Amino acid sequence: MKYTLDTIPVLDAYKADCECPLCKLRILCEDQYLDTMLSSAYMEPEWRIKSNETGFCTRHFELMFDRRNRLGLALMTHTHMIEVIKSLEKILGEGDSGKRGLFARKSAEDGAPAKIRARMEGCVICEQVDSAMERYAYTIAQLYFTNAEFKQLFASSKGFCLPHLALVLEMAEKTLSGAQMPEFKKAVAALELENLKRIEGEIEWFTLKFDYRNDGKPWGNSQDAPDRAINKLMGACVGAEAEMPAHND
Ligand SMILES: [Zn+2]
Ligand SMILES: [Zn+2]
Repeated sequence: MKYTLDTIPVLDAYKADCECPLCKLRILCEDQYLDTMLSSAYMEPEWRIKSNETGFCTRHFELMFDRRNRLGLALMTHTHMIEVIKSLEKILGEGDSGKRGLFARKSAEDGAPAKIRARMEGCVICEQVDSAMERYAYTIAQLYFTNAEFKQLFASSKGFCLPHLALVLEMAEKTLSGAQMPEFKKAVAALELENLKRIEGEIEWFTLKFDYRNDGKPWGNSQDAPDRAINKLMGACVGAEAEMPAHND
C-alpha cells in the first residue's frame, strides 16, 4: 500500500505540546468527519450506502447525537436500521431445522449471537479516522529522517499514548528501511519510557497530596495527572485532552 505524507498537520500537532500528537490529530479528524457526515455526506448516495451498511460505533453515534443535526442523524439511523433488519431476518430465520443435540449444534462463530455481534461491528467514521491515523503515523516515521524541524520537535515531544505508540511502530516497521528502523525505534523507545516514567511520578504525587502531611506542598504538574495518565495508557478519552473542538452547529 502506498501512503502519502501529511506534513503540515503533523508539524502543527507537534507544536501544540500535548501528551500524544496523534491523539490531537485523531480528535481533529473525528470532528471534521462528524461535521461532514452530518452536514452533507448523509445526502450523498455513495456515503449513504456505506453508512446504511456499516453504521457507526457507540462513540461516534454519541458524538453525532450531541450535535444539532437530529434530522440528518435520524435519516441515517433509519436507513441503516432497514439494512440491519434485513440482516436480522436472515440471521434469526436461518438454520433452525428443529434438530437438537451434539451433532446438530453449530460452532460458536456460526451461531446467531456471533452473527449479530459481527453485524454491529464497524463504523463509517472509524474507518476514515483509522486510515488518516495510519497516514499521520507514516508521516511521523518519514519526517524523522527527512525534516530537521520535525526531528527537533520530536525530540522535545512527550511520546505517544500506547495505542498510537503501537501504530507508529507498526507503520515504521512497514515503511522504513532496514537501516532506519533500529534508529527510529531507539529514539521512540527512549522518549516513550522517559515520559511514561514522568507521568507515573506525577500521578504518584497526586495520590501523595491526599496525605495531610503534604497539604502545604505544591501540586507541581500533578493536578491533572490522573487524566493524563489514563490518556497516555488508553488514548485521549478523559479531561481536557479528550475535548472536541468548540463548534456552533
Ligand atoms: Zn494517542
Ligand atoms: Zn466509530
